[in-house]
Amino acid sequence: MISEKRDIRALSKEELRSFFVGIGDKAFRGNQVYEWLWSKGIHSFEGMTNISKETRASLEENFVINHIKVDHLQKSNDGTIKNAVKLFDGLIVESVLIPTKNRTTACVSSQVGCSLDCHFCATARLKRMRNLNPDEIYDQVVAIHRESVLYHDRPLSNIVFMGMGEPLMNYKNVLLSIDKITSDEGLGMSPKRITVSTSGVPKMIRKMADDEVKFNLAVSLHSAIQETREQIMPFAKNFTLEDLRSSLEYWYDKTNKIITYEYIVWEGINDKEEDIKALVKFCKYTPCKVNIIEYNPIDDGEFQQADSAAIDLYIAHLEKNKIPVTVRRSRGKDIDAACGQLANKQ
Ligand code: SAH
Repeated sequence: MISEKRDIRALSKEELRSFFVGIGDKAFRGNQVYEWLWSKGIHSFEGMTNISKETRASLEENFVINHIKVDHLQKSNDGTIKNAVKLFDGLIVESVLIPTKNRTTACVSSQVGCSLDCHFCATARLKRMRNLNPDEIYDQVVAIHRESVLYHDRPLSNIVFMGMGEPLMNYKNVLLSIDKITSDEGLGMSPKRITVSTSGVPKMIRKMADDEVKFNLAVSLHSAIQETREQIMPFAKNFTLEDLRSSLEYWYDKTNKIITYEYIVWEGINDKEEDIKALVKFCKYTPCKVNIIEYNPIDDGEFQQADSAAIDLYIAHLEKNKIPVTVRRSRGKDIDAACGQLANKQ
């Protein structure tokens, strides 16, 4: 049952302090409760042992503490872990822990389902139910951090917003969650270790630049030819490459941060020389690097990864033009945890 009471975790520290002043207590009590909720990650008022019984009772009367619960955990042969995470209203999202030799990365979701319609992505087939709250995003990171310590004996090192949803369509909450992740009262992580990945929403890229955010930006480009991009990502009709390009130039001017383009090469879709030339041209507008991602099949074979010769040709052209390029291998495929496979199958 969903409670009518307010979620205390939606309150800022200032709001909590005002609440206590309002009930005739000291503002400082707000700091104590805030610390329990965030630094100590307590999920019950009872557990707040330095708060008096009466005060806890009035908190109980006024608020609930919403939090996520890892409902189901799957482990891949390669060490990847996928969490199916239950939200306070029963909806489910997925997040993934990806261990490599030098890093442990958390891949987190920002929406339940997705607002966009990329034909090659399993999440796009789930209707967007709602945006995640800042604490629901933060909790996914904390859960993965704990699993990283438990199963891999090391703390989380990086976070990518590449799970379910389009982060820039839930911009305010994504930003608030990053505030928590990077603040000393939260996880104290450096924003340099966080990457927000977007399908490319120009207006929001400009807004991010204006907000002078400190995290990294990745853009799921997949084609630098407008017509092709529209075919595979129909929303791109409204968010044209030209507009995207100008927003990225604006981003770089303001932040001085290079952009990563995520790119999948598919047979018969973007495996021709003209596709490569268009990408090289696009890459020259703004300092960037290209991350070629392995395609993770999601269905009946409408999309097929191009052969290695096509990918090698991409790499050769990019390198010749001095554009840094890396190839990212899929992780956690056996448990449907790889990019684009998150679809709440369990
Ligand atoms: N909406 C955001 C973040 C979620 S998708 C975005 O589009 O960037 C995270 C990444 O996975 C994107 O680069 C996306 O293009 C990629 N992706 C989606 N489906 C995929 C699939 N089936 N195989 C490999 N990568 C996929």
